[in-house]
Amino acid sequence: MIRRALQILVLTLFPLQFSHGETSANQLPDFGDSSGALISPVQEQALGEAFMRSVRSQVKLISDPNITRYISRLGARLVANSDTPNYPFTFFVVDDPSINAFAGPGGYIGVHTGLLLATENESELAGVMAHEISHVTQRHLLRAYESAQQLSLPTAAATIAAILLGVASGSADAGIAAATAVQAGSIQQQLNFTRANEKEADRIGIQTLARSGIDPFGMPTFFERLYQTTRLYGASSIPEFLSTHPVTTDRIAESRARAAKYGHSKERDTLEFELIKMRLAVQHTRTPGRMLRGLQAEKGPAQRYGIALADWRIGKKADARRQLVRLRKSDPDRILYRTTLARLLMDEGKTREGLKLFEDTLRLYPGDPVVGQYYAEALLLANKAGKARELILMLLHDEHARTVPIYKLWARATSIAGPAWETRFASAELYAMTGNLPLAIDQLNQALKLKGLNDYDRARVQARLHDFKSLLAKRKERE
Ligand SMILES: [Zn+2]
Repeated sequence: MIRRALQILVLTLFPLQFSHGETSANQLPDFGDSSGALISPVQEQALGEAFMRSVRSQVKLISDPNITRYISRLGARLVANSDTPNYPFTFFVVDDPSINAFAGPGGYIGVHTGLLLATENESELAGVMAHEISHVTQRHLLRAYESAQQLSLPTAAATIAAILLGVASGSADAGIAAATAVQAGSIQQQLNFTRANEKEADRIGIQTLARSGIDPFGMPTFFERLYQTTRLYGASSIPEFLSTHPVTTDRIAESRARAAKYGHSKERDTLEFELIKMRLAVQHTRTPGRMLRGLQAEKGPAQRYGIALADWRIGKKADARRQLVRLRKSDPDRILYRTTLARLLMDEGKTREGLKLFEDTLRLYPGDPVVGQYYAEALLLANKAGKARELILMLLHDEHARTVPIYKLWARATSIAGPAWETRFASAELYAMTGNLPLAIDQLNQALKLKGLNDYDRARVQARLHDFKSLLAKRKERE
């Protein structure tokens, strides 16, 4: 009975997911002028999706769900207070030490780890993000996308990605660079923002910060620090962000005056920012031992969290556990403490305790995708694939949980504890999500050949096959 219910559950949710891209494209406000010369929202969405596939293939993205969720939530709050709250933005973190952030087509906003680590508080990080969001809402990138439209969709997307990621002259596809040098040059020219655009993005961004209840001085303060850094270290160490967003004393003064009009915002609790930044810092340091010694002097929760993570990294797991237990006692409901401690317990071989903490946390936050992902991983580690599969099918009901890591876990769990067709089905979803529709279609065709597939399952697989085929046809049409 449960199995039947789960199958119905898993099958009913996919049409939702499939229609998502189309729906959000339709919801886009139409920015095109009356002559119809500008790129349409649907075209921009298609370019955005292709851009994101290209980004994924060229750089490493941060997959730590606690970090990606933090950035997405901060981004969502800013978008909700922007001029286009319904525009479908996507935020992601690029594992790259350079100080940079960028806005791609279709509202894909990338933040480098280097930027996250260089900001001293949440309002500075939000300031850069609000600036990038404003480039999108004010349609500053439109001309660049228009130039790109003269290329085929994959080439256009790859070219924009290479330019924005700053790899155009480096490891990027040399063929693309050579074959399309002229177009690439013209896109590059359009992506080099004009001073007027920069000013406008600052102005609108500061307004967005203030409306979001985040200190608008975050933007000028961060610009100022970047400016001082380059004066200190010279032109050779100019942060990537400055090469596309030149910061002058005029610009700093102007954004400061603008922020002053709104005044400082009331202090917000930004402990989560400090914890996330610390998490990233400990993950990225090459000398966790030295970092540990540096942290001992301070006693705030972020430092203690850093000590726990650094202890764990150098193998002092019992010390790490004691810190985390203490942190959790002081702030019992914080997901970050709970999931970190539960994963440490699993790593220590305290499987029963670890699983219990995950279960307890999921009860506190029903359907939470971050807790769910970690819990499913832990269940698989503990040879409980059946339970992992049930959990994942439950999680997939929520759109936010339909991520690449969850699909990977589903494919693994169902290959051990589910029907054979479902393994194909899960793999198909995974391929589709990472942009490989032909392989997705192949998986579904193979599912249909399996024995023991009942009529109901067959109909669902066929329906999904139809979805993917028409999506592939549409994509080819655009190219
Ligand atoms: Zn800018």
